[in-house]
Amino acid sequence: MATTAVIYLENLKLNIKAARKRIGPHRKICLPVKADAYGHGAVPLSLAALDAGVEYLAVSGIYEGTELRKGGIAAPLLLLSQTLPEELPSIVDQDLIPIVSDEDFIDEAAIAAGMAGKQLTVHLKVDTGMGRLGCKEEDCVKLAAKITGSKNLKLGGLVTHFAVSDSLIKDDLEYTKEQINKFNSIVLIIKNAGIDPGIVHAANTGALVYHDDSYFDMVRPGLYLYGYLPHAKQQDSTPEVLPLMELKSILVAIKKIKKGEAVSYGRSWIADKDTHIGIIPTGYADGFPRGLSNNHAVLIRGKAYPLVGRICMDMSMIDLGANVEAERWDEAVIFGPAFINAKDMAEKLGTIPYEITCNINKRVPREYVE
Ligand SMILES: *Cc1c(COP(=O)(O)O)cnc(C)c1O
Repeated sequence: MATTAVIYLENLKLNIKAARKRIGPHRKICLPVKADAYGHGAVPLSLAALDAGVEYLAVSGIYEGTELRKGGIAAPLLLLSQTLPEELPSIVDQDLIPIVSDEDFIDEAAIAAGMAGKQLTVHLKVDTGMGRLGCKEEDCVKLAAKITGSKNLKLGGLVTHFAVSDSLIKDDLEYTKEQINKFNSIVLIIKNAGIDPGIVHAANTGALVYHDDSYFDMVRPGLYLYGYLPHAKQQDSTPEVLPLMELKSILVAIKKIKKGEAVSYGRSWIADKDTHIGIIPTGYADGFPRGLSNNHAVLIRGKAYPLVGRICMDMSMIDLGANVEAERWDEAVIFGPAFINAKDMAEKLGTIPYEITCNINKRVPREYVE
């Protein structure tokens, strides 16, 4: 395949080190590897992260958890989404850690663990302002006690999630502070009730970078560990983190076109002089967002060439100019740590870098570089 996503594992190690520097040596790191590790490949990323000292992994649901267990990963694995009751036997069987928020599901979990003759570790989630999963503050102690009161369940941790921790707007900073304060008081209430909450964790990328009072016992920064900061400035001379993913392709054809000739569907680009068009076999089906048509560049031999015309399903075109320096079969970088990165692209598209890396299609092989 011409189109390949190169994953620089050395950058993962660097980003993990940077996270450790922020949180200190005594806290744990949980790497969210949901959505195939944000498109980077869940099993290889998990193995590399564990090797670099990350203690926990988190996935969305059982499908992703099973994939990691099948991949030989024995580390503690959190299930971030609400799972289904019928998935509990398999969760127990594979030693996955569901995050629970309500009485009914705690009952179901205890029954499933009891049937297997096992003790299942769960984490209790509290909603401090995200407005998604999580119990109400006033129900925390009751639910924590219900978990610790069941011989088939173990309270392994207490969780919350932030809604606006990646924002530097004053109201948002205050809102996150309120969430942190609420969570602190909940931890205290649970401890005062004589219950050990286990590992207390809250921080996503935004909180890791902007709220150093949000670290508790463990942090869960996904985006940060994949190499992106929450804010716009990424081009610092010594960046704190480096993106892992590079999307590259090959210049598979070069052809001459005349002034006035159009390129691609919709004839959205028309040559204003005689030039050469280069064809790259990468399109929106690979995850090269069509919204970047006529608004991106591709790097060949260290030189950036403008993308021209609409991005097609499987191909896109660049303007190589009147005098062609590039050669057929040259490597062509579409985005990556040393060029335009996924965050730069996301900004142009009015989206977030997560969407760019997650959307790199399964048909694009991942190549891991140590
Ligand atoms: C995805 C996710 C994270 C990581 O978020 P980032 O913004 O990538 O740091 C943390 N916690 C929960 C519950 C999540 O779903």
